[in-house]
Amino acid sequence: MAQTFEIAVFEGDGIGPEIMVPTVNILKKMAAASADYALSFTTHPAGAAYYAISGESLPQASLDAAGQADAILLSAMGLPDVRYADGTEISPQIDLRKAFNLFAGVRPVRVADGQHSPLKIPKGREIDFVLIRESTEGLFYTQGSGEVSETEARETLRITRDVSEKLFQFAFNLAQDRKVRRNGPGRVTCVDKANVFRAFAFFRSIFDETAKRFPDVVADHAYVDATALWMVQKPWDFDVLVTENMFGDILSDLGAGLMGGLGVAPSADIGLEQAVFQPCHGSAPDIAGQGKANPIAMILSGAMMLEWLGVKHDMLSLAADGQRIRQAVERVMADGVAVTADLGGAASTIDTADAVLAALDL
Ligand code: NAD
Repeated sequence: MAQTFEIAVFEGDGIGPEIMVPTVNILKKMAAASADYALSFTTHPAGAAYYAISGESLPQASLDAAGQADAILLSAMGLPDVRYADGTEISPQIDLRKAFNLFAGVRPVRVADGQHSPLKIPKGREIDFVLIRESTEGLFYTQGSGEVSETEARETLRITRDVSEKLFQFAFNLAQDRKVRRNGPGRVTCVDKANVFRAFAFFRSIFDETAKRFPDVVADHAYVDATALWMVQKPWDFDVLVTENMFGDILSDLGAGLMGGLGVAPSADIGLEQAVFQPCHGSAPDIAGQGKANPIAMILSGAMMLEWLGVKHDMLSLAADGQRIRQAVERVMADGVAVTADLGGAASTIDTADAVLAALDL
């Protein structure tokens, strides 16, 4: 009998529901065509618009349901005008990372044939690397509790041995997996600022300790400023990059830029038990309600969810369905017809999602 996976859905704010609905539709159709697994989706309230009417950004019942689900699918949350009294925005997506210890923020940066990278990619080279952003501490550690006085403001950067060990272990495992499955070079680069900050020298020393346990993977280091340069000059040299929370936050948008924009950049926040899958972009209030949001980042995040569930539950067909969705999306982008305005097309959100469904040929 087919195994059923419970998926907790957060439709979020702005363009969130517009990209979530067609993504869930694709995943439902994919599951309906499978004899091995079924997917059950339940939507839960959270987000800025919900906060504005209820005073709660992430109700306890939603958090509990997310914890009990097999995976969490989230679009984007936050609205610039909806803020806490201290002036910061509500951000339940970050609260979820902390609540479930989702330390590994996985940001694949991949430019497939026909995809619109602003870079001229030399013949024989390809951009296909993964940026792993630590997602529970670093400079986000005091998020919401930084000290502010009339004359000074302070936030604390925190790096712990425990989280760093798990993070690096995850990065090296991923490089090993990419070596086997995608013929990757098997390399992990620790991105830090160890030349200036003791906290990053500590981060790097734990990286080096972990590297010794993976003799089949090349371990190297790069400073974050140089990494920004090299991501533009020679991104084809990277395989797996691993870095602190704030550095990763910034570099992942640069990675999205390499791929042609935020509308095509998926992500996952992964812990030892639970994981959240969501696009890298925000709620895009400037285009909300117009039907022109690009659903590709959301759809690819759904594909990452299937791959993660497949590996976790040792179900090859589930992981393969994730790859099928990614390949269908890449065909739609290569075709260039059913793409939204951010990719130079005139298609609507639904047109693009329908084209992905057609390319899946279920
Ligand atoms: P944003 O990512 O929402 O938008 C930046 C630009 O990219 C905008 O011009 C937008 O139109 C465009 N864009 C984003 N997604 C797109 C898509 N799928 N298709 C086409 N164009 C797209 O960033 P922002 O404007 O800085 O933030 C808006 C709100 O989202 C803020 O409240 C912010 O806090 C929140 N936010 C949430 C998340 C998250 O949920 N993970 C991440 C970033 C920002």
